Amino acid sequence: MSDISLEDIASLAKRRGFIYQGSEIYGGLAGTWDYGPLGTALKRNITNAWWKFFVDSRDDMYGIESAILMNPKVWEASGHVSGFTDPLIEDLKTKKRYRLDHVLEDAGVDVRGMDLAAMSAAIKEQGIKSPDGNELGNPASFNMLFETSMGAVEGEKSTIYLRGETAQGMFVNFKNIVDTFYPDLPFGVAQIGKAFRNEISPRDFVFRVREFEIMEFEYFISPNSWEGEFEKWRVAMHEWCEKILELPADKIHELEVSPEDRAHYSKRTVDFEFDFPFGKKELYGLAYRTDFDLTNHQNASGKNLEYRPKDGSAPFIPHVIEPTFGVDRSLMAVLCTAYTEDEMNGEKRIYLKLPKHLAPIKACVSPLLKNKPELVTKAREVYDMLKKELGAVMWDDNGNIGKRYRRQDEIGTPACIVIDFQTLEDNTVTVRNRDTAEQVRMKIEDLLANV
Ligand code: ATP
Repeated sequence: MSDISLEDIASLAKRRGFIYQGSEIYGGLAGTWDYGPLGTALKRNITNAWWKFFVDSRDDMYGIESAILMNPKVWEASGHVSGFTDPLIEDLKTKKRYRLDHVLEDAGVDVRGMDLAAMSAAIKEQGIKSPDGNELGNPASFNMLFETSMGAVEGEKSTIYLRGETAQGMFVNFKNIVDTFYPDLPFGVAQIGKAFRNEISPRDFVFRVREFEIMEFEYFISPNSWEGEFEKWRVAMHEWCEKILELPADKIHELEVSPEDRAHYSKRTVDFEFDFPFGKKELYGLAYRTDFDLTNHQNASGKNLEYRPKDGSAPFIPHVIEPTFGVDRSLMAVLCTAYTEDEMNGEKRIYLKLPKHLAPIKACVSPLLKNKPELVTKAREVYDMLKKELGAVMWDDNGNIGKRYRRQDEIGTPACIVIDFQTLEDNTVTVRNRDTAEQVRMKIEDLLANV
């Protein structure tokens, strides 16, 4: 698996309808991708598994869906209007813009702990050129919030932002949740939804895009318990990666983020990194956001956001632990892990070794020959029965059986079921296993329990 390239994954994703370039027929739009039918199914299986694991199976978690458009005061209070920036540098000849830290990293410089001035100095001292080999200009801070305007009357429009993170939706609803559900501390507010960042240079397929999806929760705690809570969620994040997504444990690494590199709101951050084909990169983050957000929103909104303990002790502003999970990066890690090449009957075979619960299609049903009505009718019966129970079942009668298997292998379908002449006699079918390519005969009535 180590020699798998990002191109292998992207090409399979496109060929088999997982992910297409955004606005492709118009030449695309940088940093945007569209999920096709199988990508949508895979993504949904991941988000559903996350919701089940972190929300539905617990009794201290409250799920919400807040608006993408928020009052701009939210982003002023949260510090995003002034501080949600990435360092930018421009190629003086082509005028192309790059992430300064990425240019340095690509040149082998360790940028950890460097501020804008230090990075700027490193560019000059080491004579680093742009990726096109040209002189680089002076660095600047670039704000990643997308602006849009609201209002139907021209001239009376006001600037608002597309949310740069989902977290603020949880903070502005903190009081609503407390007032309607009276939860005991600690408790969490969770959300899955889109976030938008005007990334300077989107790259690496869906790893760094301008519109992406986040699954995250804000876990409200009393300040003296933050270390234990941080540890609890650190362990749970590993459990999610290794038990639910079934990512290999040795490809997941923790990075203790230094104070200089932490986001403006964080007192401790651990990044979860994954060995992608293009290097070890951030998959998820775990941050101790203290009472930064609620305090700022209390001050800016004038609303009391304190928590009143039920035992009558003094009210206080809760602190927050925030585990955050990028959906698109999750999907990429899953695809990179599943992508397998082997040899079968002297030919190269590609298949996705997806965990069954994540596979977009659970089973494929085929009649051995599509011009034999008796086989087709029987196969339809089996298909309808499975479809009713499993939902994600595919019908495929195109080409020969070998080709059908190859197609299903590439989309990670765990089982292919073929109805042949023997089926008409004894109600058994062939079930072929994706990973081993082994075929067994099975009674139709046993299929549901076994696929
Ligand atoms: P990076 O350092 O890679 O830019 P970040 O530290 O800014 O990421 P967070 O603000 O912690 O990222 O965002 C939460 C999660 O959202 C990340 O862990 C990642 O999974 C995902 N994410 C962030 N930016 C992007 C992006 N541009 N495209 C896709 N996913 C992203």
